[in-house]
Parts: sequence; structure tokens; C-alpha cells
Amino acid sequence: MTQSTEYSKHVTVLLAGGLIEPAVMEAINAIAVKYNLTFYLTMAQNLRLLGASEENLDTIKQELLDLGLQLKGPGKFPVPKACVGMPYCNLGLVDTFALCEKILARFGDRTGVKPKYKIAISGCPASCAGSRLVDIGIVATRKGYDLYVGGKGGALPRVGRKVAAGLSEDEVLEAVGKLVDFHAARTLKKQRMFKLLDEPDFPFSVE
Ligand code: SF4
Repeated sequence: MTQSTEYSKHVTVLLAGGLIEPAVMEAINAIAVKYNLTFYLTMAQNLRLLGASEENLDTIKQELLDLGLQLKGPGKFPVPKACVGMPYCNLGLVDTFALCEKILARFGDRTGVKPKYKIAISGCPASCAGSRLVDIGIVATRKGYDLYVGGKGGALPRVGRKVAAGLSEDEVLEAVGKLVDFHAARTLKKQRMFKLLDEPDFPFSVE
């Protein structure tokens, strides 16, 4: 790794549930080698390429886009983080990656999404994806999905509040839609979900 002492540029490839196919990884790796970049695995399960320069940043982005990849940028719907779930974890109750894909299929094309909320999907109540520590947290249980809203990390962390329990997958998608629409309608520029929990017409009752 060669890192300039000047502030270097970076680009983040969005990965649904943190998954990446070997052939895609190989193609990204070729770009990283070509431009002397370093991989950083972000907390949100995305792949950041560090060490770009002002001069080569746009070219790197274009080469990644040419591979069909999605890059992080303003106004994009946040890619959910997911634990490994079923069938890869013996406690897993659901296929977390499949639910992640369904959420992206429903909402991923949205543009102009106001910052900022994070979504996490956990395949059982152990909640390894940190579902109670993000704005919209989905947790599989033996009785269906529980939904948490308003969690966050940062300097002033908060635990999400349960707003629904025992949901089917379709009901989860519907509930996520209600939440992101409410956030869009009630946010001027930027707002975390916890600030909306006390709104009188918040679309769920909060435990
Ligand atoms: S949340 Fe449950 S299913 Fe997901 S990785 Fe943790 S233990 Fe496994």
C-alpha cells in the first residue's frame, strides 16, 4: 500500500448484505492494483477503495460503474446491512440476504433519499447485524419479524424501539415503505429516525 501524506480520495462500492462474487472481486482487485489502491471493509459492509487522487478518482469511479457496480453517493437508498443468516448460521431463522435483495428491489432505485438512516437485518434475536442500533432494524424471530426504529450509534448512541412484531416478509416491506416515506416527508435536509418517533402521526405505536 502506498499512501500519500496528503488527504487521499476514496470511492465506496455498495454491496447488498456485504456479499461479493469472486469474479467481481477479481475485477475490482484489478482496478485496485492498477491505481495502487487499498481495500477497506466499511462498518456498513461495503467495500471502500482508499488512496485515489483528485486526478484519477473519476476514472476509477467510471471503471467501477462499467462493471455494473453501485457506488455510494448522495441521495441513494441505503443498502441494508445483514448478518449471515440461514443457511450459513445454525441459529438463522431466515435468509437475510434474500430479504436484503427484496428491500433493494422495492426501494433501491429511489433517488433524492434524504440522509440519514441505516437499515439492518438480523436472522435471529441474537441480532448480530446490530438491528437495534440502527434507524430501521429488522429481527427474525420464531413468530415472524420484529421491527425496531430509532437506534443509532455515534457519540450519543440510542437503542431502537420496537414498533411491530410478528410481521410477515411482505409486512416488513410495507412497514419499511411507511417509515422511509414518513422520513422523506418530515425531513428538510438530514435527520435520524429517532427524532420522528414522537411525531403525533408517526405510523406505528412505539413500545
Ligand atoms: S443474528 Fe442470529 S442468524 Fe444472524 S449471525 Fe447472529 S446468530 Fe446467526
